[in-house]
Amino acid sequence: MKIDPDKCKGCGLCEEVCPLSVITVRDKKAAIGLGCVECKTCMKVCPEAAFTPEAPADHPMCTSCPIMCRIPEGGRGACMRYSNKKGEIVRLSRVHSYEEVVDLVREGTGAGPIGTPLITGIGSGTTYPDFRPSPFIVSGVKDGVDIVTVVTEAPLSYSGVKLKVDTDLHVGEEGKKIYVRRKGKRHIGHLCTEEYGSKILSLGGVNILTSKDGLFAARVLHEFLQGKKINVEVEDGTKLELALGMEPEIGGIVEERMRVGCGSATTGLFAPYMFDAADEVIVLDGHITGLFSEHPSGRYLGKPRSPIQLTGQKSTEGRYFLNKGSGWGGTDIVNPLDAIKDVDRTSCFDGMTLLITETTGRRSAFYRWKKDRFVENAPTAEAIRFLDVLKDSCELSRVSAVFAAGVGGSARAGVTKNPIELTRAVHDGKVSVTIGGARPFIFPGGGINFLVDVEKIKHGSIYVSPTPSFVLPVEYTMTLDTFREIGGHIEAVRPVEEVLKKKDGGR
Ligand code: SF4
Ligand code: SF4
Repeated sequence: MKIDPDKCKGCGLCEEVCPLSVITVRDKKAAIGLGCVECKTCMKVCPEAAFTPEAPADHPMCTSCPIMCRIPEGGRGACMRYSNKKGEIVRLSRVHSYEEVVDLVREGTGAGPIGTPLITGIGSGTTYPDFRPSPFIVSGVKDGVDIVTVVTEAPLSYSGVKLKVDTDLHVGEEGKKIYVRRKGKRHIGHLCTEEYGSKILSLGGVNILTSKDGLFAARVLHEFLQGKKINVEVEDGTKLELALGMEPEIGGIVEERMRVGCGSATTGLFAPYMFDAADEVIVLDGHITGLFSEHPSGRYLGKPRSPIQLTGQKSTEGRYFLNKGSGWGGTDIVNPLDAIKDVDRTSCFDGMTLLITETTGRRSAFYRWKKDRFVENAPTAEAIRFLDVLKDSCELSRVSAVFAAGVGGSARAGVTKNPIELTRAVHDGKVSVTIGGARPFIFPGGGINFLVDVEKIKHGSIYVSPTPSFVLPVEYTMTLDTFREIGGHIEAVRPVEEVLKKKDGGR
């Protein structure tokens, strides 16, 4: 790759996206160092058209994906999987057996002979163009049945990640865009529907990966999948710091606990403790706020109805919808007493107690009625006991993620000459699909669209290629009879022992 220094304005976009980090910008001019593989990622983002392809003749071409890297001796391709060793393009990792990942995927072997693969796609490499057989098609015998596993590392352009962020804190309105700052603001996803107290972020996906910000989105998501911390912001300005398996930081607050339920569920779950905790307990929650003495659980236990009326829209007895916001429990209530619409003062008595808490117990306040108003006070031992039980019942907040993808070209044509037969056999339960040994959820309907827990996939076995796409290990396991029926590449089958006994996987 050549760069025209007169055209370069030093914006740094190429330096940001170069998958091999061989570009440096100094004194407002970009320069290309050793190791360039002609992947053309820099060309795609340069606003000044300063790059021109120029591959030295002795750099062999990797043909495992449409990028067609020209890799110099000792260097790596743009996806970091292939290298040039003495003029030959080789996959850097060996193919992994299922036994090597079984502790990670924790699936057990309850699904019969085709329930688990003979080998995994981890380290297997990719064949391209699509119609060629997958790199490893192996046969073996399980429970007396002849089975076949076909593996590949599938480039998945139609893919993205759904993040589950455990928090009651307000992160923004559903549908808002999510950005990262990488040499400017990059659109990488959007906020999905909230699911029972966890916020779901949809990042990547085919439309974003193929947009002008796609290369940036792929890079950020790959960093996240490798366990790095990423900083994103929602369209309305909320900033989130997220790392896989860690507690999320939202607007500068580290979220420690995940709710045990909504305000109404919390009221029902802990009613016996609430009974002793105060004359009235309000559980503030952006989904459903609970008012204990009016709630069925309070009435069932014989709690006298307090003179407190709540603000918000009443759903059913003791269950209220308050406005959402960045206040307590994901409501817009900043001062907890503002949750009270009205109090029948004639029924109040000096010393009457009130406890207001969030569903996690992270914030709570205890009050006593004095003359004509509630005054904040130290909580009673019973109130502390309830709050302790509530906090202890909350799981730790974390960021979890599933990879969402659909297998397409090489990941299906590498198995069979009739891809539709493979898809049908998957939906008929005749073929099991695993991702690095982990069992995904396959969406109903057409296609092989799946969700898989990324933490069950061996660390470091998801790659990104600058098409852009993610590269994931995929395995198909079926009986030899099914393999024949669906038109599998029978000529490419090798005994599994042959593949596993060779250090290089018998490439
Ligand atoms: S062609 Fe690829 S490897 Fe070479 S400088 Fe550009 S982005 Fe980097
Ligand atoms: S991105 Fe990877 S698979 Fe694609 S051509 Fe380059 S080295 Fe080969």
